[in-house]
Amino acid sequence: MIAVLKAGTTDKQIENLSAWIRSQGLDVHLSKGSVHTVLGLVGDTAKIDAELLESLDIVDSVKRISEPFKSANRKFHPDDSIITVGNTTVGGKDFAIMAGPCSVESEEQVMEIARAVKAAGATMLRGGAFKPRTSPYDFQGLKADGIELLLKAKKETGLPIVTEIMNANHLPLFEEVDVIQVGARNMQNFELLKELGRTQKPILLKRGLANTLKELLMSAEYIMAGGNENVILCERGIRTFETYTRNTLDLSSVPLLHELTHLPVIIDPSHATGVARLVKPMALAAAACGANGLMIEVHNDPAHALCDGAQSLTPDAFADVTAAVSKVLDAVKGL
Ligand code: PEP
Ligand code: MN
Repeated sequence: MIAVLKAGTTDKQIENLSAWIRSQGLDVHLSKGSVHTVLGLVGDTAKIDAELLESLDIVDSVKRISEPFKSANRKFHPDDSIITVGNTTVGGKDFAIMAGPCSVESEEQVMEIARAVKAAGATMLRGGAFKPRTSPYDFQGLKADGIELLLKAKKETGLPIVTEIMNANHLPLFEEVDVIQVGARNMQNFELLKELGRTQKPILLKRGLANTLKELLMSAEYIMAGGNENVILCERGIRTFETYTRNTLDLSSVPLLHELTHLPVIIDPSHATGVARLVKPMALAAAACGANGLMIEVHNDPAHALCDGAQSLTPDAFADVTAAVSKVLDAVKGL
């Protein structure tokens, strides 16, 4: 349930009303937007008399939210959420570009790629240290050493780092990581999501291989319900019967998610297609349809990458993509 407050309502009045709502056993979510101030009531709202609430002087209107996701709901927070990550932001007007190798392989590799993606306009460095691999015999990542190498690259380039967590027990290793990624395979690892909800770290939540947008939003809700509202959603393609691509990129998720939620939405055209030459056209389409950013895999030697070489761009190809993306962003501005 949400209560839209009248213009001119004072902080004291908001606090009094919030205290009363809490006394009814509910949580209150306050959103002071550019147009409206909205109080979101979270919990069992059946016991709240909506008519009584609406009759209060400071309340303009009361609506029940039928969707099961509340904190992530656009109705709770009409303005776009803007998530601060180090010296950059994700959401609103800014366009985030996270780029780097699928996995961190060595110091030389990650440093060379970090410098190159920074020069080409990346706003964050990505790189997997803990890798979720289909085969237990494949390279599993450098783990804690991989995070150390990412931190080294961050120190030199100033780029905030994004890396995936697979087990909540590893959280102490992520203290200096700027954005913690929850990969597609863990989108519904609810215990992990709850644990991340207890932190204040920005979380990049990737859509599961066969999950609906509603399920993605419910997973975001798990993190937000714990008190961490810093969630970035990522569409990375879903399983279909198509085999020419690794997954099928669902670009309609971008405008749909923007309707349903205030959280930023980025596109990962690398995992979505699995094919390096398809990354540029899909990145351009993502920029054109309103995505808040991209995550792109870049490798200095794709042919010898320990993971996902076929979808990895060379630094030069990545620079070509970022230049083209900025042209698309300029072209669609204000449309
Ligand atoms: C990744 O970003 O390296 C990754 C494993 O992606 P996904 O979880 O989308 O497969
Ligand atoms: Mn990968």
